[in-house]
Amino acid sequence: MFKAPLKPVNPMRVPFADLHAQYLTIKSGIDAAIADVIATSAFIRGPKVQAFEDAFARMVDAKYCVSCANGTDSLYIAMRALGVSRGDEVIAPAHSWISTTETITQAGGNVVFCDTDADTFTIDPARIEEKITPRTVGIIPVHLYGQPADMEKIMQIAAKHRLWVLEDCAQAHLARYKGRLVGSFGAAASYSFYPGKNLGAMGDAGALTTNDAGLAERMAMLARHGGVTKGDHRIEGVNSRLDGLQAAILSVKLPHLPAWTSARQRLAAQYDRALAELPGITRPTVAAGCEHVYHLYVVRHERRDELAAHLAARDVQTVVNYPVALPFVPAYARLGHTGADFPNAYGHQSRVLSLPIFPEMTAEQIDWVVAAIAEFTQARQ
Ligand SMILES: *Cc1c(COP(=O)(O)O)cnc(C)c1O
Repeated sequence: MFKAPLKPVNPMRVPFADLHAQYLTIKSGIDAAIADVIATSAFIRGPKVQAFEDAFARMVDAKYCVSCANGTDSLYIAMRALGVSRGDEVIAPAHSWISTTETITQAGGNVVFCDTDADTFTIDPARIEEKITPRTVGIIPVHLYGQPADMEKIMQIAAKHRLWVLEDCAQAHLARYKGRLVGSFGAAASYSFYPGKNLGAMGDAGALTTNDAGLAERMAMLARHGGVTKGDHRIEGVNSRLDGLQAAILSVKLPHLPAWTSARQRLAAQYDRALAELPGITRPTVAAGCEHVYHLYVVRHERRDELAAHLAARDVQTVVNYPVALPFVPAYARLGHTGADFPNAYGHQSRVLSLPIFPEMTAEQIDWVVAAIAEFTQARQ
C-alpha cells in the first residue's frame, strides 16, 4: 500500500560543487585523453606535459609555464628560485589558505602577516609598508576567492622597497585587474589545479608562470631534482612533477575555462541581484576595475553558523573559507598574534560563508538557495 512520506521531499538538493556534472559534459574527450596516456605510457614528462605547459602559458599570456605536482609546491619552488634564505621575511595576507605561508617557512623564510581589506578580502596595501623591515624580501598577494588583489598599489610598494612579488593565483585563473590578467604583474605567478579549483585536474596538479627566462629555468630545475635533463643536478631540488594523466586531462579542460568562468560570473550576478533585497546579508564586493572569477561566492552574516545550519536543513551545502584566519591557527601560535593585530581578517573569520557556485549550477538551484536564505532572514527581522 502506498504511504505518503512523513516529511515533504525537497525538490532540490544543492551541492557546494559538482565535479561529476562537469565530467559528464566533456566525458568523451576526457576518456579518450586518459586512454591515450595509457596506450602511450606517457606517464611522466613527455609530450602531454609539454603541450599543457605551452597551452596554459598561452591562455594566461605568460612567456613560460613550469608545471609541478600541486599548487603548494609551486609556491615553495618559486620562493626557492627567488632566492629566499634563512631569516628573510615575506609578507602575506592574514586571510588565505595555509599553503601561502607554510611554504615561506619551508623555503627558509619568516612569515609576516598583513591584514586584509575590510571589503575585498585581499591584502590591504595601506598596511603593507608598516610590515617592511631591512629583512623583507617579498610580498605574496593572494587573489582570494577569485578577486584580484590591488596590484597597482602593491607593485608600487614593491618597486619602492625593491621587493619581489609572487602572485598566488590558485583561486583566480583568468581574473583581471584593470583589464590585465592576474599573474602578469609579479615576478612569478603560482597556480593550483586541485580538482575543485576553477581549472581542476583529477588529482593534484599545479604550475608556475613567469616572463623571466632565468627564473623559469631555476624553477624548472628546482622541480626536477636540480636539473632540466636527467642526470643533471646543478643544485639540490625536489621531485615535483605534473604527471601525464593530469596534463592530458587539463589540456582537455583548458579550452572550456573561459566559458566556465563566464558561467560563474553569470551565476554570481544572479545571486547579487537576488541577495540585494535581503537584510543582513553582505554580498561580495568587487573592487573598481576588477574582474572577479568567483572561485567562491562568499557572503557575510552576523549569525553565520545559524544561517549555515538553516541552509543545510534545506539541502544546501555551504563551506566556511576559512573558519580561523592564519595568524590564529595553532601552527602560528609561536608568533603570538591576537585579533587586534588583524581586525579585518579576525572579524571575517566568524562571518564569512561560501555559497554553492559551480559552472554547471542552474538558475533554479540559485533560486532555491536564495529562497532558503530569504526564509532565514525574514524569520529573524
Ligand atoms: C588551493 C590553494 C593553494 C594550494 O594548492 P594545492 O594544489 O592544493 O596545493 C594555494 N593557495 C591558495 C590560496 C589556494 O586556494
